[in-house]
Amino acid sequence: MVQGVSMTPEALIAAVTRIRATGVATAKDVLASLEREGAGVTLSEVKKACSKVAKRTTTANEEPAACVSPDPACSSTYSPRSSPSDVRRKLASMGVSDHAAERQSVDAAMEEKVREQNRTHRKVRREGIPVVHLSGTAFGMVGPGLPLPDGVPASFALKQVASTAFMEGRSFSGERLGNLKSERLYREYFDDLVADRSTWLGFFEHRGNFQHAENTCGILGTLATIYRQRGALDDCELVLDMEAEVLARYERCSVGAEAAQVNCCEVLAYKYRMIRYNLCLQRARFQDCAGLYRELAGHEARRDFSFDESNYLFMIPVVLNKSPTAAVLRRLSDAEVLRIVKAPLERPGGVEFQNSRMQLRACSTCHAQEPALRTFMPCGRCRAVYYCGKECQRKDWKAGHKERCQPCDG
Ligand SMILES: [Zn+2]
Ligand SMILES: [Zn+2]
Repeated sequence: MVQGVSMTPEALIAAVTRIRATGVATAKDVLASLEREGAGVTLSEVKKACSKVAKRTTTANEEPAACVSPDPACSSTYSPRSSPSDVRRKLASMGVSDHAAERQSVDAAMEEKVREQNRTHRKVRREGIPVVHLSGTAFGMVGPGLPLPDGVPASFALKQVASTAFMEGRSFSGERLGNLKSERLYREYFDDLVADRSTWLGFFEHRGNFQHAENTCGILGTLATIYRQRGALDDCELVLDMEAEVLARYERCSVGAEAAQVNCCEVLAYKYRMIRYNLCLQRARFQDCAGLYRELAGHEARRDFSFDESNYLFMIPVVLNKSPTAAVLRRLSDAEVLRIVKAPLERPGGVEFQNSRMQLRACSTCHAQEPALRTFMPCGRCRAVYYCGKECQRKDWKAGHKERCQPCDG
């Protein structure tokens, strides 16, 4: 039986953070301090809170970029049984709202939809059925053999190919990015957006093309994340600047639109800001972070994010010892927001920016770097070395890899 005053999870987290800041390290010692203060908590509660605090303040946030509702352009090609309008009707009947429970059931439905789509994608690929990119746009149908309607960018096919690849790797809840093997395709599409900028942005301006804008935001968010987690911050910023342009148009297209579209648009804006926040943090642009923090935490407050779901709001109790509510957030001073932004950096060890992820490989023979993730192939036997091509593999084999190569045992 635990004696003393019980605490809410947020209050406990705040107390644990405060006590640990004084140098108390173990959960048992934290518990002893809490008991001296008259709190009634168990050791397991304290342990849980300690691990949450540790986890939350030492790593930069993951930035899942993948969240798009199924693109009719692509899903109609693969999944003739359930059309996107079925999904939208289902969403509308479920009523997309800001309440957590309803949100979760909607997310679960979408998650299942995405899983089914991915299954179909894999099946199509396994059976070698050629992929036909037939797509509806506000200016008419686009597909192989059809004349390109006025207003559709000349390289529209790049968008279709990138979307298809992207969807194979995403999950609606955003735990995973798009298909990372497709970095090259995302980049080709991005380069075309830059080269033919005014045509593309004019295309996204049209309400009837919102789904294409939505997909593009997902693709650019994924590409920006790959670059940031590689430490290629200039590239990351260029891609984010383009995503901001597309997102602005998607947001204008979504004013007064149906609930599912508005919901998706808000989630994409949240994820875009998350990547931008991490980029600014890494570049020590704390003022920019502060502005983004208010928007990110505001989104989480409006949607009743729980402690576990929250990436930003939870910092209010942890750093400032205040309740994580929308009203408290609005009243925070700029200095308080800056304290939150800088808090992870002040911890021993600071923030881990995950720069070691998404690294490109080098050819074992000529040391050239691969142009995009997973474009070089490993030695089929040991899978320990990579080559830019057959020529380099042959050379290395003769030069001594033959003796060193051991079959990998999986
Ligand atoms: Zn090579
Ligand atoms: Zn080998």
